[in-house]
Amino acid sequence: MNVTVVGAGLTGCLLACYLARHGLDVTVYERRPDPRAGLAERGRSINLAISERGLDALRRIGLEEKIMADALPMRGRMIHPVDGPLDFQPYSHDGVRSINSISRGALNDTLLDAAESAPGVKILFGHRLTGLDPATGAMAFETPDGPVRARADVVLGADGAGSAVRGELLAHRGIEESLDFLDHGYKELTIPAVDGEFALDPHALHIWPRGTSMMIALPNPDRSFTCTMFWPTGGTSSFASLSTPAAIERHFRTHYPDVPPLAPGLVREYQDNPVGRLGTVRCSPWQTDGRVGLIGDAAHAIVPFYGQGANCGFEDVTVLDRCLEECGGDWARALPLFERRRKDNTDAIAEMALANFVEMRDKVASPVHRLVKSVEHRLERALPGRYVSRYELVSFSTVPYVEVRRRVRRQHLALAAAGATLLAAGAAAIAALSSRRSRGR
Ligand SMILES: Cc1cc2nc3c(=O)[nH]c(=O)nc-3n(C[C@H](O)[C@H](O)[C@H](O)COP(=O)(O)OP(=O)(O)OC[C@H]3O[C@@H](n4cnc5c(N)ncnc54)[C@H](O)[C@@H]3O)c2cc1C
Repeated sequence: MNVTVVGAGLTGCLLACYLARHGLDVTVYERRPDPRAGLAERGRSINLAISERGLDALRRIGLEEKIMADALPMRGRMIHPVDGPLDFQPYSHDGVRSINSISRGALNDTLLDAAESAPGVKILFGHRLTGLDPATGAMAFETPDGPVRARADVVLGADGAGSAVRGELLAHRGIEESLDFLDHGYKELTIPAVDGEFALDPHALHIWPRGTSMMIALPNPDRSFTCTMFWPTGGTSSFASLSTPAAIERHFRTHYPDVPPLAPGLVREYQDNPVGRLGTVRCSPWQTDGRVGLIGDAAHAIVPFYGQGANCGFEDVTVLDRCLEECGGDWARALPLFERRRKDNTDAIAEMALANFVEMRDKVASPVHRLVKSVEHRLERALPGRYVSRYELVSFSTVPYVEVRRRVRRQHLALAAAGATLLAAGAAAIAALSSRRSRGR
């Protein structure tokens, strides 16, 4: 049985490591040159927040420790208002649990090393998939040395949001897809280290919430921060509206006043760095005839506001691994089973990720939100294991995303019912008191 994985990104490399344990011959085709040779592509996020779902997948193949060695734990959000003091909001009720800032490049390199050293795995760089016949597994690639043809028993598309494998399934009428792009894009900036030290608290994910837009910053092992602006792509206060150095500087001094003194390369980086697109990919089915399947962003790219895209792709790999095990290596049963177990979950995190954009860019700055979070943390302490916040369930557990949504709804209903009962009891007590008083008179 020979299996092809298209894409040696985060999901594809981890998938190759897991497939090797099934004794399969795995060939991974990657369009880019080997990033370990220092030719990394620009334009993707430099660091990622990896949390429990991703760590669980890495732990199962013994890679967690290696990846975590350079990770920077972030225990909460540090809110930067336009004026006034910074406000730290812990992620967990004990203030200890953290998500981890990890370099995308270093993570990918470690996974490439692990995949390459796994028995039966071969990685071919500089191979861009340009054609696929889903019925036969025949593939065409463009390489620097000209066209190459290959064939596989099973083809797995781990080739990201713009997946060529998905494109081929669409072209052969095997699947349907919808792409929902946001009116917001993203661009990155750097806050360098100051005298070899972090310019901001490295144990927090920094957020500058500004209503319709925001900026975030995650720490890097070299003590710099990578900031990502999530701004509208058109209209006022958008990427399109700031073109001159003076306008860029003015905008930052007005809306992000603590940033210009920390980011000396601000204007140059703003002008040089590309604007990336953000969107949600939904498609169905994820596989055809048990021969060609999709996984990771190729099947379900989501917006990055819950920091879950890569975590979710890694979790996909563990689920597919279990399906393959349960189906005795029969791909025709394993791929449909994988989709049945996973699709509702990835739809659920896609929805939660979109909702979290509003929370991050707007709600986190409001005193009401702060109050709600502090009540939530008190409830978690008072009812351990019985009340658990959505953030905690998504980021610090492997509870399926669908169950997270269900459980949070149940908790909110129970709280609303408890609140209504308390209000009714209070109203009844006031009514009894006032009737006693009027009888007394
Ligand atoms: C701004 C931003 C911030 C993010 N932050 C986080 C975060 O904090 N936490 C988190 O968990 N997720 C985050 N994500 C999401 C995360 O980056 C993705 O979910 C993750 O990279 C998906 O991995 P993948 O391997 O499925 O796809 P990709 O990383 O896109 O990898 C696909 C691979 O396939 C290759 N490829 C593409 N086409 C072809 C072809 N035709 N032939 C051969 N190879 C091909 C590509 O070169 C690439 O190597 C963020 C995303 C963005 C945009």
